[in-house]
Order: sequence, then structure tokens, then C-alpha cells
Amino acid sequence: MPIQVLSPDLVSKIAAGEVIERPASVVKELIENSLDAGASQITVEVRGGGITLLRVTDNGCGIPAGEVDVAFQRHATSKITSLEDLEKISSLGFRGEALPSIASVSLVELFTQTADDAAGAFLSLKGGEVIERMARGRPRGATITVRNLFYNVPARRKFLKSWATESSHISAVVSEYALAYPEVRFTLYIESRVSLRTPGSGSLRDAAVELYGLELAQELIEIAPNDQDVSPKVGGLIGPPQAARSNRGYMSFFLNRRWIRSPVLAYAVEEAYHGLLMTGRHPVAILNITLDPTEVDVNVHPTKAEVRFRNEHIVFAAAQKAVRAALVARMPVPQMEVPAAAPLKLSPLPIQGVLKASPSGDDNSVDSLFPSPTSHIRPPTSQIPILRVLGQVSNCYIIAEGPEGVYLIDQHAAHERVLFEKVHSQRARQQVEEQGLLEPFVLEVSPQQQDILNAEVDNLKAYGFALEPFGDKSFLVRSIPAVLATSSKNSGQGLAEALKEIADALAEGRRTGWEERIEASLACHGAVKAGQSLDPEEMRELVRLLEKAAMPRTCPHGRPTMVHLSASQLEKEFGRR
Ligand code: ADP
Ligand code: MG
Repeated sequence: MPIQVLSPDLVSKIAAGEVIERPASVVKELIENSLDAGASQITVEVRGGGITLLRVTDNGCGIPAGEVDVAFQRHATSKITSLEDLEKISSLGFRGEALPSIASVSLVELFTQTADDAAGAFLSLKGGEVIERMARGRPRGATITVRNLFYNVPARRKFLKSWATESSHISAVVSEYALAYPEVRFTLYIESRVSLRTPGSGSLRDAAVELYGLELAQELIEIAPNDQDVSPKVGGLIGPPQAARSNRGYMSFFLNRRWIRSPVLAYAVEEAYHGLLMTGRHPVAILNITLDPTEVDVNVHPTKAEVRFRNEHIVFAAAQKAVRAALVARMPVPQMEVPAAAPLKLSPLPIQGVLKASPSGDDNSVDSLFPSPTSHIRPPTSQIPILRVLGQVSNCYIIAEGPEGVYLIDQHAAHERVLFEKVHSQRARQQVEEQGLLEPFVLEVSPQQQDILNAEVDNLKAYGFALEPFGDKSFLVRSIPAVLATSSKNSGQGLAEALKEIADALAEGRRTGWEERIEASLACHGAVKAGQSLDPEEMRELVRLLEKAAMPRTCPHGRPTMVHLSASQLEKEFGRR
């Protein structure tokens, strides 16, 4: 093919592909425009997962009637005029790409009025071309309606997921902006029901109540603002360690009020919790970072979701320090007492093959905590010998004797392992034991959890959960996996916790490993707890099941289930050898 210049239409579709990946990207761009326009109320309406219809209405400054056409031209912006402006940018937008990109792949209507114009303007576009225009009045602000997204890009349309999944992405976007701008009242309608509504009171905690629920929001710890003049300034709210989650979806970062993805900041926060969280748990954190705009390049990513810091290590250190300080102020950090001379060295059994889960965090990937799909081929396991139960210590450990010495078994971890393998094999045979509830249980969830649970009803059914939508942000739980039913404490709260954890695991994406996470979560919530006293028969039963397990020496999270004190170690310690 000879070299030739692409047609403007093709160029604009290619460019749109970068900015508009899915309905949630449209919502992000339109919300950013509303915020840049100084809106104090932003309403988002979604139909058909945002593919059929997306509408964002604001009460911002509006677009002058004389400028509505140019707003849809590529690289048309009212926000910068020079490179210096870009270097000290305070608006969210500046590329002038969102409106033309959206318009080139959908049917768009704009209805807007400014305070100065006598009449507002209505404009309708198809594939980027104006097809209708009218003068029409309305209160100050702008409404942009986007219909039939990707109608002319079938390839992109094919990549879209179910309505429920696309809606859950949208609700994630709206949630992030609601946290970034607590002074703005956000309302999100999904398929005509209110999915999210924030008060716009200006208080971050108030916004968090709507998104995370009252219980968690109340627990959040405020990061005391550091010295006013120091840059970077770090503020926000963080969760206490016990509120940690099974995924990173509860960490939100805002840089100069721009929502950003930042592995560096995520790492800084996790470092600040070092030693306070179990492996596989992630903190809740909403971090607002204020930095001199010249210290950061926001123009490195088409959707501006990633930024480049001039001094990354300074930002990292400031975030880590601020979070740690807030945590320490709230609680004494537990310290390991190291006795002057340790008489006994109890060694955890070697963990063979899989699951080297180091709490020091040098492997940060969630998925690494679970066997990868290929590891279903079990490594040669270190079976444990037949054990004789001697008793229980601290209502927490089972002490048992075997041919090779003494074993201390963590009752919770051991039971988790047993249940994990049980659920896993039941699921593999599509025979997960289900337990109907005599009284259905009402589960209250966040908008995001609601969307994901709705989308995954079938998957959940396969694991024994029968869920029915029950009004706004609740479900009626009619049956649960039998592994949860057997543990007496799982009446209400444990069950709710398990389901929310599962929703979060699902929300994190359908990457490999989420089945294991559901299974691990069921095992964790179904297992006996530390502190629960067990009678000898229960202990014998648990140990018998553990002996039969395929990987008896670690719990599903990779922690040891037992500590072994060998006969020869005992002999040595007592000077017999
Ligand atoms: P950018 O935000 O990068 O400037 P956009 O394509 O998103 O580019 O928007 C183009 C211009 O249209 C903006 O610069 C702004 O002047 C105007 N605009 C877009 N949306 C709104 C809105 N909701 N209210 C007021 N003005 C808007
Ligand atoms: Mg914009």
C-alpha cells in the first residue's frame, strides 16, 4: 500500500479509541468537564450499561451559545492557551479531545446555557457532524446526552461487557469523583434507580458514608494535615488495620484533586501499614495530595489517569509518613518482644512447592497468594503423619503428638485449609452443598457491590448463594454454601462480611484467581475462629480432616497451619543428646 494521509473521520475515530475505551470513560470525561465548569451538582444517568444512554447534567458555567460548535472540534479548549499554562494547570481537562472523541463514536446532544446568554443552545450531532441546532432556554449549566455508544465502531462494541459490568465501572468512576469533590452533590441513576447519592456537604467523611457505609466511614482515621507550607501536602482518611479489605479497590488517590492511578502511592500506603495487616489484606485509604503543579507532569497519559512526578521518592515518602503517623497516633504499633535468650526454636514446617507468602511484602500481587491456574497440578505434597490430639492451648492451638515429635496446630488456619479444599473440589464437580435459610437474610451493600452481585448472580449460585435483589442496595439471601452454615456464628454479620468480601473479589476483575479468592473467603468465614474452645472430639475430627488434605501445611493464604517440634529437637533442648 502506498503511504497516504488518513481521512479526518478515521483519524478522529482512532484518536477517540484512546480516550474512550468504554462507557465509564465517557462518564469520566463528562464529569471532569462539569467539575471544570464549577458545578456544585452533577447528575449521571445510565441506561443499558451506558451503551444505550449516558447523560450528565450539571449546574456549572455552561457553554456560550456562540461556542457550542467549536467545543466539538478537536483540540478545542477554553482551559489553556500556552505551554506555560499547562505547566501550572489547575483544571482537569486541557487536551480538548473529550467532546470530539465522544461525538465521533456516538449520537450526542448538548443543551446548555450560560448566565450571560439570553437563550441557551441545543445541539445534536451524529458521528461528529451537527445535524440539528436550536435556541432554547434552561437554567445555567450543561447537559450532555450520549446515545448508542460505538454504534459506528463495531469492534469496540464487541469488547464491551454486560450492562451490569459496564454500570459497575461507571459507578466506580462516579464514586471516585464523589470522594475527590465532597462539596459537589453527585447523583447516579442506573437503569432509573438511584445507585449513588452524595450530600455535597464538603465533608469527605460524609461522602465516604454514602460510598462505604456508615460503619466503615465512622472508623476511618483522619490524616492530620501536615505543615501548611510543605509540599507535598497529604490529607485524607484511612482505615484502621482491622478494616482492611481483600483487594486494593478501597485505595483512592487524588493529586491536586485529580483522580489518579498510582502504583507508587499504593505501595507507599501499604508500606505504612507494614506489620499491621495480614498477607492478602489491603488498607482502606483516601489520599489527597497537594503538590506544586510544576512538580508533576499530568500530560503523560491519554486519559490523564496516570501522572509523572518530578521527585517520585519525595511523594512516596510524604505519603508513607503521613499515613504511618495517622496510624501510630491512633494505636500503639505492636512490637515483637524478643526474649533475651530464646530457649526453644520452634520451626514452621517447610512449605513445599507453592505459596511462599511473605508478609514482608516483597511480592505485592494479590494473585500470587493463591496457586496460579497451572498450580492446580499439585506439587508433591508433604503429607502429615497420623496425629494423636493431646489438648487445646489458649483456645487457639491444638497440641498433638506424632511419630516425629510434637505439633502445634493453628485451629483456624487448619480448618480454613480443610474447608478450602472441600469447597474447591465441590465446585469442580459443580456440587457445592447449599443450605437453604429458614429466614432469608437481608444483605445491605454499597452501590458497587450491588452492581457486581447483580452481574454475578449465576457465579454466586454455583457457590451456593441464592441472592435476590431486594429494594435499593439490598439483597435477600435465601441460601448459603453449607460450609458457612455449619459454623454457628454465621448468622448475620459473618455472612454479610463474607458476601461483601466476595463482591469485592469479583469487582476487582475477572482475572485469574478470583475463584480461589471466593473459595478462600468461604473457608475463612466458615472456619472455627481462634479463641473458640473445642472439645476433644471436634479437635480429633479437625486433625483427621487435615491429615487427608492435599496441602495440609498451609492455610489458603499461605500461612503455616502448624509448627513442629521434632523429637530430636526436644532431646537436644533437654540435654539428652
Ligand atoms: P477540555 O476539557 O480538554 O478543554 P473537552 O473536549 O472536554 O476539552 O471540552 C471542550 C470545551 O468545552 C472545554 O474546554 C469547555 O470550555 C467546554 N465544556 C465542555 N463541557 C462543559 C460543561 N459541562 N460546562 C461548561 N463548559 C464545558
Ligand atoms: Mg474535558
